Amino acid sequence: MAKPVSRFVCQHCGAAYSKWIGRCEACGEWNTLVEEAVEARPGAPRAGSAKRVAFVGLQGGAAPPPREMVGIAELDRVLGGGFVPASVVLVGGDPGIGKSTLMLQAAATLARAGKRVRYVSGEESIDQIRLRARRLGLEDAALELAAAINVRDIAAALEGERDLGLVVIDSIQTMWLDTVESAPGSVSQVRAAGFELIRLAKARGFALVLVGHVTKEGAIAGPRVLEHMVDAVLYFEGDRGHQFRILRAVKNRFGATDEIGVFEMTEAGLAEVPNPSALFLAERRGNIAGSAVFAGLEGTRPVLVEVQALLAPNSGGSPRRSVVGWDSGRLAMLLAVLDSRAGLRLSGSDVYLNVAGGLRVNEPAADLAVAAALASAATETPASPGLVYFGEVGLSGEVRQVAQAEARLKEAQKLGFASACLPRRVGGRKLLAPEGLRLEEIGHLTDLVAAFTGKRAAAN
Ligand SMILES: [Zn+2]
Repeated sequence: MAKPVSRFVCQHCGAAYSKWIGRCEACGEWNTLVEEAVEARPGAPRAGSAKRVAFVGLQGGAAPPPREMVGIAELDRVLGGGFVPASVVLVGGDPGIGKSTLMLQAAATLARAGKRVRYVSGEESIDQIRLRARRLGLEDAALELAAAINVRDIAAALEGERDLGLVVIDSIQTMWLDTVESAPGSVSQVRAAGFELIRLAKARGFALVLVGHVTKEGAIAGPRVLEHMVDAVLYFEGDRGHQFRILRAVKNRFGATDEIGVFEMTEAGLAEVPNPSALFLAERRGNIAGSAVFAGLEGTRPVLVEVQALLAPNSGGSPRRSVVGWDSGRLAMLLAVLDSRAGLRLSGSDVYLNVAGGLRVNEPAADLAVAAALASAATETPASPGLVYFGEVGLSGEVRQVAQAEARLKEAQKLGFASACLPRRVGGRKLLAPEGLRLEEIGHLTDLVAAFTGKRAAAN
């Protein structure tokens, strides 16, 4: 049987097919298949060429890899304590979100600290990068710049170097390897170019950053095929309507995942936000129905955010459920539980839910705050000012324990909150609440709804 000379590769997920189909069977995307030449396979293994693999015991081993702290604390935290030599980091995010700005700042900061740093741009000209550096006040940094897309040329420039600290490739989608017969940005090119650059980083011992553009759906298209080849994957999130950006680790061989770094987009580039809670709560107005503060946790860091709910009478048809910053399936579940377990009927209303500030909350611990915002909106009764919520809600309406209650309480107190509504403790370790913070422990959603209806009755 003759070997196929080309194949059809999904540009969304990287699945390969022998013939063209309209819809990728692996990821379900339409019209994402592109014909690509099959890469040359290495020849059949020669007999007798194998070396025996040496096995060793569990004892002994190398010291933890030394790290290169960048000096931008929010970035260092997400990296797990700076860059590890000979490691590869993929930085993904929407085009225009600020990846190049952040990486230029990181590169220049390291260069200022005396490290040799090279920045290769396939997107912008040298003049454009210099202009940006001037705008960011970084033009004095001894950064080595190049505008190039040919990986072979870039590799030749890096090959002989031994004291490089960091190399940034911006972006991997513009890189091109002449041995692969498809266009830059295609899965084959991204994979081949990525492989070549990663090999160099490992061989020469420099830390490598690959910048990759992501589609709005959140998946790294194209660069996604690199996810398993790199040591860490960081996503740069946020929407362009908001001034802050969140850097999130989704994979990290040298540190914890789910760690976030928060930045604010300013005239002078991305500024660190050491206290994100204060930023997320900055525009909160007290005493408004439909608002509740969630004491959340991002990685190891407690973050307070405001959850807002708006109910509108449904004008016929199926009611609308619109969610920004939280899971819509989780909202549907919570609405059903509020309805059947706590008697809060919202099936006739359109429900709009928003996590203020553009943060995306993934924790089930937000259930109680969302329920509070909904109950507050439904009863037109504001939650007590100075009250935070956290707790998971089960299908029978019970409020369940969540991790790290003490860290959440501490953050609430630090930001001047006076009380917290949290799951009732049943046995176990005693909760060490910060002094002066009043705790309202509840066991069931009915307690939460009763608190709002009781408050309304008292007001009338
Ligand atoms: Zn696919």
